[in-house]
Amino acid sequence: MLLKGVVFRLESGLPSEARFLLEDFRLAVSDAIRAGLQARVTSRNALCKISYKDFREQHPRMYAKHLVSSFEVAGGILKNHHRRVRKSVGCRTPFAKRLMMKAENQAYKFDRESGVIDLPIRAGCHVELKLVVSQYHRKYLDDMSLSLGSLTVLPDRVIVAFRKDAPKPFVPESALSLDTNERSLDGVFVEGEAARAIRAEFPDVAIVQQRHYDRRRRLKKKKAHDGRKSRELSRKEGTREHHRINNRLHQVANSVLKFAEDRRSAIVLEDLKGFKSKRSKELNRRLSMWPRRKLHQIIEYKAQWKGIPIVKVDPRNSSRTCPICGRIQDSRMGAEFKCECGWHLDRHINASINLLQTAISKGMAGGLRFDPGAFQHDVMMILYEPAMAARSEPNGTSGVVSVT
Ligand SMILES: [Zn+2]
Repeated sequence: MLLKGVVFRLESGLPSEARFLLEDFRLAVSDAIRAGLQARVTSRNALCKISYKDFREQHPRMYAKHLVSSFEVAGGILKNHHRRVRKSVGCRTPFAKRLMMKAENQAYKFDRESGVIDLPIRAGCHVELKLVVSQYHRKYLDDMSLSLGSLTVLPDRVIVAFRKDAPKPFVPESALSLDTNERSLDGVFVEGEAARAIRAEFPDVAIVQQRHYDRRRRLKKKKAHDGRKSRELSRKEGTREHHRINNRLHQVANSVLKFAEDRRSAIVLEDLKGFKSKRSKELNRRLSMWPRRKLHQIIEYKAQWKGIPIVKVDPRNSSRTCPICGRIQDSRMGAEFKCECGWHLDRHINASINLLQTAISKGMAGGLRFDPGAFQHDVMMILYEPAMAARSEPNGTSGVVSVT
């Protein structure tokens, strides 16, 4: 089952009844966290068992189903807390900080035609939330193969979860193999006999990352006397950085997926799990790893949603191996890969050819075949470059493919 959270703005502010409900919900979550810490349980059912009766008395006005979902939210916070304790990073007693509430799909009604949510507050009292519905939202509202999941209400917006069964991936007619680098995805596109180099560039991700890294460091120095302020500012800085980078990564992912969908391509990616970054050491390197992982996450998730087959392969030696004769080189220096047998190619593209060959040799790319000899050195397709962002909408659904 796949889930997609879609954010809606409210047409007018949150009605006061609903605001009280959020405050009640937050209290209930905090109580449940306390009970869970005491009894050392984290699951929704366990929390429900130990404290439902007390809760019913303490929060007599709240709709029973909301009460149960407060256990679920509390359970999530508790699990997070225990994970942090295990990793021994910051162990302050957890509490419900955000003003929010969550309602399970049976606990609210959503008229998908008009975009009005009917949210029960207590017996005989409902509140209506009128949502702003754009074309983007219509796509999800009108698609009846999507069912409704939980509803999250925040002071200024609501998030509706749409659910669908993962579609069966199509049988690939071509393959798009991509090597993931700091500033670009470099790869090879194979269709029939032809093989061409392909690239999606995102140089600005590294620039944004470096800029925010520098700013955080300056902030820390400037606010060294005030730890609380320093942490707060640095967190804000981090959130902004994530937003800016995510936005760019989504655009890159969208253009890759559009290309793969149009040509019925399987997407081959390296498995980044093996890349363990050392803690505190080489901070710069660690900083540059998360956008790549995030990009893979986005591509994989969206591909699943659209039924595009994804193949993950072990990238070991992929940047040092010659795809023609199989020799493995000692170093991976230089922008170009050169082999004694005469084969030479851009190192990143060469790596993607190795990824593709691994995928094919393990039978993970259907019945596709690939002959490195058929590779056309002089043709480079640009899937995405930052200049395209200026022409596309912020959600980046219009990735243009140009052939140079
Ligand atoms: Zn060779």
